[in-house]
Parts: sequence; structure tokens; C-alpha cells
Amino acid sequence: MSERGKVFVITGPSGVGKGTLIKRLLAAVPELELSVSATTRGPRPGEEDGREYHFLTEQEFQRRVGEDDFLEFATYSGNRYGTLRSALDDRLRSGRSVVLEIEVQGASQVRQSMPEAIQIFIAPPDPAVLRERLVGRDTDSEEEIEKRLRRAEVELEAQVDFPHVVVNDDVQKAATELEQLVRSELSLH
Ligand code: 5GP
Repeated sequence: MSERGKVFVITGPSGVGKGTLIKRLLAAVPELELSVSATTRGPRPGEEDGREYHFLTEQEFQRRVGEDDFLEFATYSGNRYGTLRSALDDRLRSGRSVVLEIEVQGASQVRQSMPEAIQIFIAPPDPAVLRERLVGRDTDSEEEIEKRLRRAEVELEAQVDFPHVVVNDDVQKAATELEQLVRSELSLH
């Protein structure tokens, strides 16, 4: 493949179901790969370094900021998260397309530096479902959930900046909509 791959930025508030939709998308469209981000947050049970994230110390993260290793980076709920350029460059050059699952500040940085990236916002049918999902998935403390919900209010306002919004009301329906959107951008049928 000689054509350069495409970048899909998928964002939306914590608890909206991005992870589940992206898992389905990757299973349905094998042409896509997920970029593994770097973070300073600690691994949750079951998470592995290099698989869910590259888990870095604050010092190492900062060093890599200084080296200009990140396409974008942001602070979210007290921790830092960023997309490593190295996770993208080789893949795109060899024609593979990449999905970035990132929060909205990072998405807005990518909009500036890589305007050709396709930006998709996953929205809840109603903000109240975010709390239910965050409580239900049982990965975060109460305090952490409150922080994420406060951040979600700001993130939801940002959805007007996105050309594509997929409402995750019914997961099957949202997954199909997302897949169709990506297939059409990649000219796949
Ligand atoms: P979590 O701690 O739940 O894994 O992620 C918290 C938030 O950080 C989520 O909204 C997730 O999409 C976002 N995130 C994950 N990786 C990155 C990244 O590389 N850059 C940015 N800006 N956000 C990220």
C-alpha cells in the first residue's frame, strides 16, 4: 500500500462507552489500529504496560514533552495523557490507519496540527447515563467519578466543534454508525 493512512480521533466524556465502541470498531475493520497512548496514571487491575497504555512517571513524561515526542498531550483528572508521534508515523507511512482515543483538549490540538484527521465525538443520549456507567464499571473511586463528571460537563459543550457526532443510545446502533462512518472515510465497503 503506498497511500498514506488516515487518522481517526475518537473522543467523548468518560463513561460514554468510547472503549466498547472502539473495541467493536477495531474488530469490524481490521484495516484500523489503535494508538497506544502514554499516561502518568497508574495501571488499573488487568491493564498491562504497552497494551492499554505506556505507563510513564511524571518525570519521564515531562522529558518526552521536552523531546517533542507527543503529537498532543493533556492533563485529565490530575494525570497526564499523550499520543506519541512514534505510535503514528511508521504506520501512517506504510498506509495503515490509526484510531486515537483521546479526551477533547487533545482532540483540539490534533485539529490544529493535523487538520486532515477525522474527528468523531461520542455523545451520551442523556448526561445522567455517564454517572450510571462510571459507577457501574467500578474502576474508579467516588472522588475520581465526581472529577470525571465535572470534566464531562465541559467536554459535552465541545461537541459542537465536531463534524461527526455519534450518540451512544443503543450500543449496537452506535457501533454500526461508527463503522459505516469509518468505512466510508476509508472508501471500504
Ligand atoms: P482513562 O484514565 O479512563 O483511561 O482515560 C481518561 C481520559 O483520557 C479518557 O477520556 C481518554 O480518552 C483520555 N486519553 C487517553 N489517552 C489519551 C491521550 O493520548 N491523549 C489525550 N489527550 N487523552 C487521552
